[in-house]
Amino acid sequence: MEPAPWHAVPVLSELQSREVELVAAYAAPVLDPRQTSRLLKEVSALHPLPAQPHLKRVRSSPGTGQGLDLLLCLAAPAADPTGDPPSLDQLLPPPAVDSQGLGAPFLVDVPAWPPLTRRQFEQARAHWPTSFHEDRQVTRALAGQLFSAAECATMQGHMECAVQAAHRAAARGLRAVGIVVVDPVTGGMLATAHDCRNTRRPLLHAAMVGIDLVARGQGRGALELDLAHLPACTFAPPLLARAGTVRKLAPAEANGVGEDQDPPYVCTGLDVYMTREPCLMCAMALLHSRVRRVFYGAASPDGALGSRFRLHAMPDLNHRFQVFRGVLEPQCRALDPDP
Ligand SMILES: [Zn+2]
Repeated sequence: MEPAPWHAVPVLSELQSREVELVAAYAAPVLDPRQTSRLLKEVSALHPLPAQPHLKRVRSSPGTGQGLDLLLCLAAPAADPTGDPPSLDQLLPPPAVDSQGLGAPFLVDVPAWPPLTRRQFEQARAHWPTSFHEDRQVTRALAGQLFSAAECATMQGHMECAVQAAHRAAARGLRAVGIVVVDPVTGGMLATAHDCRNTRRPLLHAAMVGIDLVARGQGRGALELDLAHLPACTFAPPLLARAGTVRKLAPAEANGVGEDQDPPYVCTGLDVYMTREPCLMCAMALLHSRVRRVFYGAASPDGALGSRFRLHAMPDLNHRFQVFRGVLEPQCRALDPDP
């Protein structure tokens, strides 16, 4: 098979995407290396730096490569970089620390928060030695190694169906946005839909229709849709082997829903393929339905999964999911954005 001319790129959270931020701190050269472990212990006990657990306390002095510098404490935000630094006794008041063996303190910029991606780690450690608890899945995703060739072919197949739905919408004078909802366990397509909005029903965006069709497959669904006149909008009930697992939630996911009640989460564990990035309303609906992953082909100017917002990765919202853009991007870019 020809290699696909597209790449699935993870849409990271703001925290994962931001540039490293620096805060001022005081360090001092260790003049007597035999005192290092004692000094490290006493200084760390006095200034534990609880918000900077990623900072290593000792580094090799950058100038000569010989000798060590010990990180003492953060500087006050107003510390004057041109003025004289405080004395050792001011920073490390005796008897908590016996500063014997240390040289004069100096200001140094250190990374303010722990790195989340390898790129942030490389930036951070250029300033001060930093520990890094690597999320290997994120690293592999960023390196384009998360999906095998077979998985990419499957993803492309699903997105081709979404593109086809978008074309059929365009042929009917509707907006060319397509969506496919897939159960990744069985590989079965649970719903295929396109944008159905008109002047009477302005909110029938592709994702709203797609979610409602998945709900219909589960014996629910609420939208008024004339499916007889929408041949490209279809749904299938979950496969028998999976019927139990689709509706049953792990206790952690159930989030207060009683066991005897149907959970309201239509898309728990499901993958969504959309030709273009969903708008805020659609992204919120996908979040409410508890999707597992969203793949979209090309960004939308007002998109809420990467462009204008990153709704899938907000620490304050009670569901987070993975988003990848770029699947079949050349074809999707030619279709309509959402909204
Ligand atoms: Zn929308």
